[in-house]
Amino acid sequence: MKIAILTSGGDSAGMNAAVRSIVKCGILKGCEMWVVREGYEGLVRGNQAPETNGGKQASTQAFEAVKEELEIMQGTILKDTKPDQNLLHNLRFGDGDLLRDGTSEYVGGRTLKGRYIVRVGWDDVRGWFAEGGTLIGTARSAAFRTIEGRTAAAHNLIKEGIDALVVCGGDGSLTGADLFRSEWPGIIAKLRQDNLITEAQLQAHAHLKLVGLVGSIDNDMSLTDLTIGAPTALQRICESIDNINSTAYSHSRAFVVEVMGRDCGWLALMAGIAGGADFIFIPERPPRTMPWEDNMCAEIHRHRELGKRKTIVIVAEGAHDQDLNPIRAEYIKDILTERLGLDTRVTTLGHTQRGGRPCAFDRILPTLQGVEAVEALLEAKPGDPTYMIGVQENKVTRVPLVEAVEMTRAVGKAMKEKDFVKALELRGPEFAEMLHGFRSIASIVKEEKMLPVSKRMRIGIIHMGAPAGGMNGATKAAVRYCIKQGHTPLAVHNGFRGLLDDNVDELSWLGVDAWMARGGSELGTNRVLPSFDLGAVASKFQQFALDGLFMIGGFEAFNALLILDEGRKHYPQFHIPMTHLPATISNNVPMTEYSLGSDTSLNALVDACDAIKQSASASRDRVFVVETQGGKCGYIATMGALAAGASLVYTPENGMGLDMLRQDVQFMKTRYSLDVPGKSEGRLVIRSEMASAVYTTSVLTKMFIEEGGSLFDARSASLGHTLQGGIPSPMDRARGARLSLRCMAFLEHHHELLSRQPPHKTRCAGPETAAVITIQASSVKWVPVQEMLKHADMEKRRGKTSWWSNITELVEVLAGKTQFLGLR
Ligand code: ATP
Repeated sequence: MKIAILTSGGDSAGMNAAVRSIVKCGILKGCEMWVVREGYEGLVRGNQAPETNGGKQASTQAFEAVKEELEIMQGTILKDTKPDQNLLHNLRFGDGDLLRDGTSEYVGGRTLKGRYIVRVGWDDVRGWFAEGGTLIGTARSAAFRTIEGRTAAAHNLIKEGIDALVVCGGDGSLTGADLFRSEWPGIIAKLRQDNLITEAQLQAHAHLKLVGLVGSIDNDMSLTDLTIGAPTALQRICESIDNINSTAYSHSRAFVVEVMGRDCGWLALMAGIAGGADFIFIPERPPRTMPWEDNMCAEIHRHRELGKRKTIVIVAEGAHDQDLNPIRAEYIKDILTERLGLDTRVTTLGHTQRGGRPCAFDRILPTLQGVEAVEALLEAKPGDPTYMIGVQENKVTRVPLVEAVEMTRAVGKAMKEKDFVKALELRGPEFAEMLHGFRSIASIVKEEKMLPVSKRMRIGIIHMGAPAGGMNGATKAAVRYCIKQGHTPLAVHNGFRGLLDDNVDELSWLGVDAWMARGGSELGTNRVLPSFDLGAVASKFQQFALDGLFMIGGFEAFNALLILDEGRKHYPQFHIPMTHLPATISNNVPMTEYSLGSDTSLNALVDACDAIKQSASASRDRVFVVETQGGKCGYIATMGALAAGASLVYTPENGMGLDMLRQDVQFMKTRYSLDVPGKSEGRLVIRSEMASAVYTTSVLTKMFIEEGGSLFDARSASLGHTLQGGIPSPMDRARGARLSLRCMAFLEHHHELLSRQPPHKTRCAGPETAAVITIQASSVKWVPVQEMLKHADMEKRRGKTSWWSNITELVEVLAGKTQFLGLR
């Protein structure tokens, strides 16, 4: 199959990662890979210049060159390996460097001038995913909106013999793709009629195979939780808001921050939660209380009365009132200045939001989606629906493109018709949940709106184990929710040791205000388990009259919950609802695919690895062995390796052995010997700290130095505690808030059920009242801690199975290990 990829509409971080992944996966599956420059515009223009360097001829040239190099190497380094011939054919055509250097108008030996549909090879896309925007260019094409333009586009594809197309863009681009696919039979019939294509071409291209990837910073596409680029855009917004927060606080100012989102309020909403805003305006849910100016001022006044020194209002660029009159940042500023006397400034974030370097998530997601896109194309049969690759919670999905496009359009239509209930519904339940969550976290409610006194609870909140990004944000959300409902949030400082020392106090609404952006653990955390003195812990539960317990932490918190649950046999004080929100960079809590802090940690790893790789590449031929934390769980090493584009990854799950190392050395030698002389790349090897007690990072590095000979050198770096993060990522903040609010609802629900038990009987909390909140594939699930135990390897402190185990293989497949060694 010949597959072409194009990026279209507004650029977004992560598009390059998608292109890289599709090119590599396509080559591995034996396909010929092409990119279309400048989106649909390039497709319409096609290749005007003669193909002196592109297409087949370049392919042959490239192969001959590699073959020659190989022959020189034969008998020396490469005697044991027979690289896959297909991979060698597709190793490089040189256009990748031109694309990367922005030399599209370069006139010389090789040029992209007049060539919009360009064949690419394995090495042409190397290192692409660390770069923002799209290296193959994007455009808004008026020509493609016309049938003549689309006919020219089809003709250009057929001329190059291309069978399949991957379009990465926003809802407009995918609408265009859907139209193109549906018109295809008519278009090619017309091309045949006009004698522009042969009968054979007509038969060979009877169907256009097409897959859509959603690349858009707005996250406005239905049937997917996230679009490529949205996490990075959110990160840029939150970095700006974090910076604004400190100056706003210093001067006691108000800031109105305008963020992107013409028709979609996702960025504004998520930034509102993650950035700790006081008020937000989004298009899907215009202010309901009119006049909204009074409502906004009353809310902000309440915050100020409590002593808040700063005010942040976030407004999506497409925000409007119930009558669709735009709500502009400048107008909000005037209201705040005139009515509340606040020194107010407007900051429009503009194009800084488009991204720059992609965050870890915007490398991992497009890579996995790229793999799925190629699979979908290879499996496509005439009559199948065209798919869009999406993601639901943690699962990459295929959904019918037409449905996603229609549903997205329906949101716009509902808004135009002022049917905002429908618009919100169409955005999906998570959006509505986040909006509800924002209100719970940001607003202050009056006493009469709280729960009746009989239903109010005293909830203990405790952090356990090592600190992880998002712990404080989750705590803030819980505290604000408690206060809104009339519950008493009690901070247990320094874990169970602190509880025994009476280090417990009530948290206030204002006290947790800045916690979203804070790393580490504001409550203090350690690894002391309640089994240290279970009887004393029970008496403290009684002393502080706890009605519910909320634990945020890693494997220790899971263990502590297990101990408390088992302690119910002896201590009635533990017959209260108790819950655990997994938060650990190791992501080693059984059954859940995601723990708070792991996203922050992956970002720290990617930042470090980008810098290390740059240094390694500057030396041209250096391998860096990077050691990560993670205990006996290889999650962070594996996902970090995928996000950083490592060549090899070593995990405790797979272990290390001599045969494996011999093969890896051979792979590295083969790989370096196939680099263009003088243009070698720095390469990363990621090793989880407990991958092997014998083959330590130091041993591994020395081995690569020794074996690399004249081909490559090696160095090592240990990332250690830097992986715990610093400032939490917006994803960890927002997800933490969402899951934390679910934990509060869990506690309330079970408290309510338990309070219905007959008063004369001893209270008896069932196993379902001590549960862990988990993310499993596409859903959020509660798992009783006793159930979790069945899936836990208590000795190795991780789950018995790991959902990401096939990703370890994917890292090496994308590095080409098996193919370069000729093992497939
Ligand atoms: P973003 O979310 O960043 O705005 P987008 O993909 O929605 O990205 P658009 O400008 O709407 O951006 O669309 C990009 C291109 O897709 C257009 O310039 C046009 O070439 C093509 N396109 C959009 N809508 C259609 C359509 N209805 N028919 C044909 N082509 C279309």
